[in-house]
Amino acid sequence: MDFEQFFKDQLRRLREENRYRVFADLERQAGRFPYALWREEAHGPAREVVVWCSNDYLGMGQHPAVLDAMRGSLMLNGAGAGGTRNISGTSHHHVLLEHALAEWHGKEAALLFTSGYISNETSLATLAKHLTNAVIYSDADNHASIISGIRNSRCEYRIFRHNDVEHLRELLAATEAERPKIVVFESVYSMDGDIAPLSAICDVAEEFGALTYLDEVHAVGLYGEHGAGIAERDGVADRITVIEGTMGKAFGLLGGYIAASAGLIDFVRSFAPGFIFTTSLPPMIAAGGLASLRVLRGAADLRARHQDRVRYLRRLLAGVGLPVMPNASHIVPVWVGDSSVCKAISDRLLMDYGIYVQPINYPTVPRGSERLRFTPSPFHSAEMIEKLVSALYECWHDRSFALDPTGTSSL
Ligand code: PMP
Repeated sequence: MDFEQFFKDQLRRLREENRYRVFADLERQAGRFPYALWREEAHGPAREVVVWCSNDYLGMGQHPAVLDAMRGSLMLNGAGAGGTRNISGTSHHHVLLEHALAEWHGKEAALLFTSGYISNETSLATLAKHLTNAVIYSDADNHASIISGIRNSRCEYRIFRHNDVEHLRELLAATEAERPKIVVFESVYSMDGDIAPLSAICDVAEEFGALTYLDEVHAVGLYGEHGAGIAERDGVADRITVIEGTMGKAFGLLGGYIAASAGLIDFVRSFAPGFIFTTSLPPMIAAGGLASLRVLRGAADLRARHQDRVRYLRRLLAGVGLPVMPNASHIVPVWVGDSSVCKAISDRLLMDYGIYVQPINYPTVPRGSERLRFTPSPFHSAEMIEKLVSALYECWHDRSFALDPTGTSSL
């Protein structure tokens, strides 16, 4: 087989479908969030741009307390963990952070992983595989890491229509009562920004004795009195069996975790390959996570300012007639519905206006629902928001993109 030709053909297909991913070369500037330096070519000149699509939602990746903690740990503990958690890679910071995460979510214990992706993939695969004859009920819009965990478990699964509690109930009712059941869902869905009806899903899960597994990756740090997520905000944390989160988004760092009962955590710790057989997070990441968590717990003002910026951006976008997708979260998607137009607008915003927003295309979202996904932070000023909206408006009405206005005005 001509392997090189195969790779070329596959990549050509992606290009033809406008799905070929081009990464923006960014150099984040500590203390200058949300500005970053952008280079069109690796050795070319740098230009300052405003980043509009970061998941460092609250700018915690630049918070002085986080930087100090990481610097301190780096100098004290060195760079890496030096091993898997079992073989010399458990640092004091890991232990403290797991205690703090458990307490934050009102759970008995927590377990760190090297990413949110791994935490979903390996925890779900492990739970479902070992629970004999289990059935998983998964929301249709669940993240790739959840889907991968379910597939790797090789257990039976059913997909319920997105956020459709009645459909979930039907599927649960159609399964033999004695089989172990796991309901898997997210709180804030990353691409549409809509929020699941947590309490109603808990009602149904409890009726059928199902374990609940909630991905709060896009909510931890951002919702609830102490920032512990939508489960805290809605007062249902004690009804969720497993809360999964990440330190890669509102924490401003890297790493994932689950929080649950002591028994469940000990079980995953003891059986999950994605936890056991990999080098653990560097101690300085755990130290940074602990510092970030301490700030996030008391960051009600920052959360209020964040929501204020989100509201302002939404209001301005809607005011000029741009099709901003409605939701009750901090994620502001603008519907484009065409991959080439989505990319063309994103390129033009970057080149002509110094505004960086990555186009969101298939398979991240279904074909025909391509969009620009804006994530304002508390540090995007009113002036930045106004500039963004006027630049987007100009691009939108540039007829060279051949955007079909009837295709986008229905929102
Ligand atoms: N769950 C959801 C819903 C996500 O959007 C993501 C990342 N985009 C993950 C899990 C994985 O988290 P991480 O980036 O920490 O690997």
